[in-house]
Amino acid sequence: MDSGRLVYLNGKYVSEKDAKISIFDSALMFGDMVFEMTRSFKKKQFKLKEHIERLYYGIKIYRIPMKLSPEDLENICYETIEKNEPFFNDTDEHRLMINVSRGPLGIYSPIFDNKLETTVVVADFPLKWTVAYMAPLYDEGVNAVLVSQRAIPAHLADPKIKNRSRVFYQMANIEASMFRGKNNWALLMGTDGFIAEGSGDNFFIVKNGVVYTPEGRDCLVGITRNYIFEICDQLGIKCVEKNIEPYHVYTADEAFMTGTPFSILPVFRFNETPVGDGKFGKITKILIDKWSKNVGVDLIKQIKDFGKECADLNKNNAPTPYQFSTDNNQ
Ligand code: PMP
Repeated sequence: MDSGRLVYLNGKYVSEKDAKISIFDSALMFGDMVFEMTRSFKKKQFKLKEHIERLYYGIKIYRIPMKLSPEDLENICYETIEKNEPFFNDTDEHRLMINVSRGPLGIYSPIFDNKLETTVVVADFPLKWTVAYMAPLYDEGVNAVLVSQRAIPAHLADPKIKNRSRVFYQMANIEASMFRGKNNWALLMGTDGFIAEGSGDNFFIVKNGVVYTPEGRDCLVGITRNYIFEICDQLGIKCVEKNIEPYHVYTADEAFMTGTPFSILPVFRFNETPVGDGKFGKITKILIDKWSKNVGVDLIKQIKDFGKECADLNKNNAPTPYQFSTDNNQ
């Protein structure tokens, strides 16, 4: 069935099912594509300008020829949302997926009448697809597991550029899915032995009332991560970047993950060992409450409501960006 939703693809709006890019695209050949995933709160996009700014840093560094200005792209984002809103429920939030690649490789230009163009995609789908299955994590907590897959250091392929060369994150997820128990989320160390980030999220610990996160070196500098600094500032809580060793996580009072779709998720265990008392951390809760207040959405309730609404989602256990499989070894 046609959802009715439309995708912006290289200057046109096409149906979701027809939104396809060429097998000759550099994105497929090299994983050579930058992207952003956004979300709304009460239908209002959150930090869209910051997402677009990060995207354009990647476009610049990868030398992708981009005709659209950041303002053009922002307008396209809003236009896409406007076209799709009729197909969303009142309680739905808009999750945009923005993909940009340099387009088909030059050697294949005869296929395209020698007219090669940058590939630009803006898709818009309900946020609940991403977050519905996270609902139990607010009661059960994440078990962060250290995987042997390391984060790629910036001097090899800079993870600060949000790019589609993500097979190492996928490998981290596959590894995490091999661990016993449930709610296992991969945590990657950099080659220096310090914690870097998760496979789709940034990582924080809390010790003696201070919030710590890995230095923004071998990880994506998350928009959510940056907002945690803002919220901590609003609350008068100290938040600092620091090299974090596994030892610091084992001995922390609290830990949490951050990422655009869910904002903050509490981590109760690290390698199956309780973090602090293994329950919802006090400061983690304060940050979630403050965030909820700032955006006018009860973060936990919204995800729990989506969880109830989408109980049937992902019945086939296909991989999700945040979990490779939901039933391995359970
Ligand atoms: N690290 C990685 C590897 C990610 O993919 C993401 C989100 N996609 C994040 C961190 C969190 O970034 P943000 O807060 O901007 O969503």
